[in-house]
Amino acid sequence: MTNYEQARRMVIDKVAPAGVERVLLLEAAGRVLAEDYVAPKDMPRWDNSAMDGFAVRSADCAPGTVLKVTDYIPAGVSSDDVVTPGCAARIMTGAPIPPGADAVVPIEETENTAETVKLLQQVKKHDHIRFQGEDVRGGEAIIPRGTVIGAPQVSLMASFSTVLVPVYRKVRVAILSTGDELVEVGTEPKESQIVNSNTLALATAIKLCGAEPVILGIARDDRESHRALLSEGLKADVLVTSAGVSAGDRDLVREVLAELGVVEQFWKPGIKPGGPTAFGMKGNVPVFSLPGNPVSTMITFEEFARPAILRMMGHEKVFRRTVSGILKEGARKKAGKVNFLRVHVAIEGGRFVASTSGDQNTGILKTMLRCNALAILPAEATEFAVGAEVDLHLLDPTLEMEV
Ligand code: AMP
Ligand code: MG
Repeated sequence: MTNYEQARRMVIDKVAPAGVERVLLLEAAGRVLAEDYVAPKDMPRWDNSAMDGFAVRSADCAPGTVLKVTDYIPAGVSSDDVVTPGCAARIMTGAPIPPGADAVVPIEETENTAETVKLLQQVKKHDHIRFQGEDVRGGEAIIPRGTVIGAPQVSLMASFSTVLVPVYRKVRVAILSTGDELVEVGTEPKESQIVNSNTLALATAIKLCGAEPVILGIARDDRESHRALLSEGLKADVLVTSAGVSAGDRDLVREVLAELGVVEQFWKPGIKPGGPTAFGMKGNVPVFSLPGNPVSTMITFEEFARPAILRMMGHEKVFRRTVSGILKEGARKKAGKVNFLRVHVAIEGGRFVASTSGDQNTGILKTMLRCNALAILPAEATEFAVGAEVDLHLLDPTLEMEV
């Protein structure tokens, strides 16, 4: 394994689901079920009609037979009156099958008046009856723990009148930007000042993971400021910092984190962009120290922090879908580091084809806009011919729809 692969694995191995809470079904969308959902009852709860029609005794029912209509059972009503030979009960979809009946004849297959019904077709025993428990049996673990809750899961739980569901709790992810050059969004930067775009970019990426961003603001390039805000950040479930993580004399993040008891697990995981990324743990709190360059910040969040946050929220699938694809343009790089190439992937002739999304210089932010995948160029390789096969981390799960 390369440094990069080991680093990614290490992050995942260090974190675990943060805890469980019970939420209203309406709040459960996209959350991960923390316990098997066991059906409290049979579904359907009773034998019922699948059609608007007539509940009959199938033995009575040769085509052409005329039965006497002796009962009327609309939806929401049940009847204890036995359907006797030669008789039928008018019944609506969903209503319980009355005693004595063993089939339902759809209204379209009859000629009927208020008092009589003439059967036009053959009727078989059990026709158009939905039987108790045929969908779900009471006691069955019908939705396994670990399932991401969507409309079908909510539909089933709601149909049992369940109000609260146990899900892994949302994690709070603290975000700290660092640097004397930064001013907040909405401020007009003076020359040499930079607008703090990373905080909001990270907050957005965190929200898209389903987690809750906690914005700490900007730490200035001095120890006191770093100490105060980093210790605040360590109260969250996850801490993500931007900038100040290289080897410059103003780069204080790693040093101050160490003072605060964060045990560094790796630094410089052999990647480009994102070279100086660091990762540490304090107790259960993972700390991602990402570089400040906005392209590097986003890519390293994507590759390291996102999978950890998803895992802490109970997700089992935490990595982006990785596919093999081909490069539309050739590429070259230095040996030694895994390179992330920002690419635009489309499906052409049944293959994933990656074209560069533009200038790969990390100073070029707009290249991220058209980027729907990262091509992973292995550490030791240097030359990639047109058509070379590479791994692609698909950032856009709807890619297939583009065909
Ligand atoms: P550093 O990692 O401190 O060397 O910063 C690298 C580059 O990223 C510099 O050009 C910074 O101005 C820029 N940068 C640092 N922090 C931010 C931020 N919060 N938002 C936008 N750009 C940033
Ligand atoms: Mg700096």
